[in-house]
Amino acid sequence: MNSKPIILIVSAPSGCGKGTILHEAFRDKDVFVSVSCTTRGPRENETDGVHYHFWTEEKFNRLVKKNGFLEHAGFTDNQYGTPEQPVLDNLAEGRDVILEIETNGAFQVKEKRPDAVSVFILPPSIGELRRRLYKRGTEPPEKIEKRVSRAAGEIALSPKYDFVMMNDDLDDAVRDFLTIYNAAKTDDGSADCFRPCNEEITNMINEVLENA
Ligand code: 5GP
Repeated sequence: MNSKPIILIVSAPSGCGKGTILHEAFRDKDVFVSVSCTTRGPRENETDGVHYHFWTEEKFNRLVKKNGFLEHAGFTDNQYGTPEQPVLDNLAEGRDVILEIETNGAFQVKEKRPDAVSVFILPPSIGELRRRLYKRGTEPPEKIEKRVSRAAGEIALSPKYDFVMMNDDLDDAVRDFLTIYNAAKTDDGSADCFRPCNEEITNMINEVLENA
């Protein structure tokens, strides 16, 4: 028998490889990865309705007024939000729901849905994160620096998540992520080594923040 569907919140500073980990981890699984709405413009490789729903401020604010978002938050100069109806529909159909959202949104979801499970993915260091964002090359330096300083603030909040892991090597990260996902579904304690109360995880978070 299938277990009860869960909401899995995944936060990671942008450039952390979150998208690649999720793609690898869920390639053969019937989960619903929520498509967020945003007021930012699409990047070169992004498609409307696939990566995001790219909306105007007016359209976004209309759904805010209608209470149609499970959560929404400002990030750098744009708004981002999770439309609630598809989340409810997929849960009702028995599918796990994956939310790739930043910290403010993550805490809103935990407030509304205490049964949601949250995972924070750390970059190996802030310096490495900066390098990855420059390598991706989708934004000018001043925007990248804004994201990097925002990332440090988000990493400092990672101890509030249920689980914290690092993306250093992709294969290891996918394996760790799946361990956490399976433990979140079964609640069997098999991912307790990723709980932020562990000294090893606390040290890892501190090291990432120190290597800026
Ligand atoms: P990006 O502009 O790099 O695609 O995303 C910027 C940040 O917004 C990332 O941390 C991403 O996880 C977050 N984000 C994407 N969609 C949502 C959403 O629906 N709600 C919230 N709160 N954050 C989101």
